[in-house]
Amino acid sequence: MAGYLLKNCAAVVVDEGDGPAVRRNVDLLTDGPAVKAIGTDLGAHGMPAGVTAIDADGWFVYPGLINTHHHFFQCFVRNRADLDWTKLAVIEWLDRIYPVFARLDEESFYHSSVTAMAELIKHGCTTAFDHQYNFPRHAGKRLIDRQFEAADLLGMRFHAGRGGNSLPKSEGSTIPDEMLETTDAFIGDCERLIDAYHDSAPFSMRQVVVSPCQPVNSYRETFVESVRLARDRGVFLHTHVGEGESEVMRARHGLRTVDYLEEMGFAGPDTFYAHCWELTRDELATMAASGTGVSHCPEPVYLVGEQVTDIPAMDALGLRIGLGCDGAASNDNSNLMHCLHSAYMLQCLVSSTRADPVPPPADFLAYATTGGASLLGRKDIGRLAPGMAADLFVIDSRRMDYVGTRHDPLSLIPRVGIGMATDMTMINGRIVWQDGAFAGLDERKLFADAEQALARIEM
Ligand SMILES: [Zn+2]
Repeated sequence: MAGYLLKNCAAVVVDEGDGPAVRRNVDLLTDGPAVKAIGTDLGAHGMPAGVTAIDADGWFVYPGLINTHHHFFQCFVRNRADLDWTKLAVIEWLDRIYPVFARLDEESFYHSSVTAMAELIKHGCTTAFDHQYNFPRHAGKRLIDRQFEAADLLGMRFHAGRGGNSLPKSEGSTIPDEMLETTDAFIGDCERLIDAYHDSAPFSMRQVVVSPCQPVNSYRETFVESVRLARDRGVFLHTHVGEGESEVMRARHGLRTVDYLEEMGFAGPDTFYAHCWELTRDELATMAASGTGVSHCPEPVYLVGEQVTDIPAMDALGLRIGLGCDGAASNDNSNLMHCLHSAYMLQCLVSSTRADPVPPPADFLAYATTGGASLLGRKDIGRLAPGMAADLFVIDSRRMDYVGTRHDPLSLIPRVGIGMATDMTMINGRIVWQDGAFAGLDERKLFADAEQALARIEM
C-alpha cells in the first residue's frame, strides 16, 4: 500500500452518493489512486507500510473541482487593452483576435496548456476538459497530443475536446477559412485520438470528447458524423450552444440551435453544451428531457454583457449543471474557484427578475464537483468517499481570511470566495501542488518557457 494519511482534518466534504456533508475532526486515508477511508483515528493501530502521515490540523478538505469548458490556447491572448469587450462589437472583436490565434504554433499550444492547467491546479481543479478547436494549418495535427503531454507533466486528469469547424466564411461562418477542416479530416483525427488516448477504465487520466466547435460554424454533416462516431466509440459529445447564434440558426435551418441538435441526436446523457445563456424555458425543458447537460461559464457573461444564464430555471427543471472557466478570450483567468464565487454572485445580482429562487451557495460547489463529473460521465471522481479517486484540495482555514466563516465549509467558496492558491492539490492519489510548489517541477522554468513560446507569436 502506498498512500497518505491526512490526520485530524478540521473538515472534510464527503459524499457517499446521497449529497455532500461535512465531517469534522476526521482522518482521510488514501491508497494508490483512491480514497480508502474517512474516519476517526485511522492510524490508531499503527501506520500501514508505505503510508505517509500528514498533519492536517486546521485543514478543510474538498473534492477536486472539475472544469467543464475552456480553451487553453487562448491563455496566450489575455489582458489586452485592444480586446476590450465593452468597446467592441463581437464581429470587431473576432476580426482582431483571429489573426493572433492564427499565429499559434505547436509549441504555443503546449505551453499555453501548461499555463492554463497550472493555474487550474493551483486553485483546486483536478480534472480539466479543454475545447481545442483551433488548428492553424502551419501548426500541424499534433496539438491535442501535446496537450496530453502537458497534462502528464503536471499530473492533471484531462479530457480533451477535439473541436473543429467546416463551414467557410462565404457561407456565414465567423471563423477564418485558414482554420477550416473538412468533415472527413475532423472525424478522422477524432478517431485517431480516441484510438491513441481514450481510456474509459476507472481512474482514467485521459479521455477524448468529440467536440465540433459550434453549429453555426460547421456544416450539418459535421455534427451528424460526430454523433455517429461518438455513439459508435462510446465517447461523449460537446459544443457551444445559446451564445447569440440561435436566431441565426433559425434563419438558416428553420430551427433554433437546441432543436436543431436534438433533431439530429446531438443531445442526451452523453452530451453537454457550453453557455446556454439565451435559451428559452422550453428549450431548457427539452435539454432536461433528453438528459443533455450544460457547462455554465459565468465570467464570459460578465464580460460580454448579454443575457444572464438562468441557473435557477435550469436547476428547477433538473438539468445537469457543471461550471467552466471558458477560454481567456472571454475570461482572463483559469481559476475555477473564482468562478464558483462569481457564478453565485451573478445569480444573486438578477434574482429579483427570476421565476425560480437562486440555489443555495453550496449547490454551486456541487455544480463544480458532482455536476462536472456527471457532465463528463465519470462515476469515480467529483466526491470524496471510500473507493472514489483521491482527487482533492486543501485550504488551511487558520487564516484571518476565514475568521467567522468556518461553520459552513460547503458555502465558503461560493459565498465568501477564496483569494489565494490551495495549500495542497492531490490528483489520483498524488500530491501535485503543495505549499506553493508543483511536485518535481520548477515553476520559474515553466514560466520562462511559456514566456518564450508566447514571445514568438506576439503581434
Ligand atoms: Zn468556449
